[in-house]
Amino acid sequence: MYDVAIIGGGVTGLSASIYSARFNLKTIIFDPDFGGLIKTTHLVENYPGFTNVTGMELAKSIEDHARSYKNIEFKKEKVIDIEKNGDCFLIKTEDGEYQAKTIVFSTGAEHRKLNVPGEKEFTNKGVSYCATCDGPLFKDKFVGVVGGSDSAAKEALLLSQYAKKVYIIYRKEKIRAEPINLKRVEENDKIEIINNTNVTEILGRDFVEKVRLDSNLRELKLDGLFIEVGFVVKAELAEKLGVELNEKGEIIINGMSETNVKGIYAAGDCTNFEFKQAITGVAQGVNAVYSIYNYLKDYKIEPC
Ligand SMILES: Cc1cc2nc3c(=O)[nH]c(=O)nc-3n(C[C@H](O)[C@H](O)[C@H](O)COP(=O)(O)OP(=O)(O)OC[C@H]3O[C@@H](n4cnc5c(N)ncnc54)[C@H](O)[C@@H]3O)c2cc1C
Repeated sequence: MYDVAIIGGGVTGLSASIYSARFNLKTIIFDPDFGGLIKTTHLVENYPGFTNVTGMELAKSIEDHARSYKNIEFKKEKVIDIEKNGDCFLIKTEDGEYQAKTIVFSTGAEHRKLNVPGEKEFTNKGVSYCATCDGPLFKDKFVGVVGGSDSAAKEALLLSQYAKKVYIIYRKEKIRAEPINLKRVEENDKIEIINNTNVTEILGRDFVEKVRLDSNLRELKLDGLFIEVGFVVKAELAEKLGVELNEKGEIIINGMSETNVKGIYAAGDCTNFEFKQAITGVAQGVNAVYSIYNYLKDYKIEPC
């Protein structure tokens, strides 16, 4: 039986595993694709110790750090179910079953869909959720980015390195990028911001050709549309175990990453913490494992 099972190996889960190993806790971490969401950004300038790094490089260095500990077991498997038997957890993947005394949910979130006609039909045919992955396909093309967050601004900046023209299409008055990225967007001749506008339909024959808008512009000819309108938390496994979620479906944790269920902890983008960043997820992951260390110190748990 493992002391700790970490579900999700993004930066949050990987960092939790490092501390878990150092507390000498028998640790297993699951992820079909280690590294998580940060891998999809080309530029991270706010993670201490790295002045300027790609998300892929940052994820890789945290994963390499975790893999340097020999008392962490890495499983490239998706967890499909967890049962609680007494105080013990039975974790099921497509490949096997594992027992653990405690669980850390670090399952992150997935891209929210725009939910307009044409989105599903043109996904991977001009509609994308990742500029780092698909940006190079749009060399000298016209593309749009839907959204007004810092992530949307960064996606637009990256796309401007390839595309002829990038439109940021945002439903409100002013995009909410970090000041440094807002300045970069405003100074970039290739980027134009269209505020107070929603994309209502994506149209084309085999690939995206244009989008329909609900403002005076009505239509915009585009070769690609990048959708960056937030995330939906992955919390079904936690919810099934009786873990309390908030109205947005995020796992509710306290300052020590404890949930309302004994033995279950959560950290990172899947939780109710507002400022979802690599560094905040990492800190919550570390707190979760510190809480587990204290919990297990004087507590005996029988196998399932
Ligand atoms: C475009 C963009 C730019 C960003 N830029 C920055 C930045 O500059 N600086 C910064 O600090 N943050 C940035 N962020 C935010 C940052 O990426 C996230 O806050 C961070 O990656 C969250 O890490 P996490 O480990 O909590 O979740 P995730 O990275 O989402 O990892 C969750 C992992 O859980 C796994 N998983 C889910 N369900 C299961 C299951 N059932 N079984 C097994 N595994 C499972 C997934 O495969 C995934 O790998 C950016 C985000 C985006 C989209």
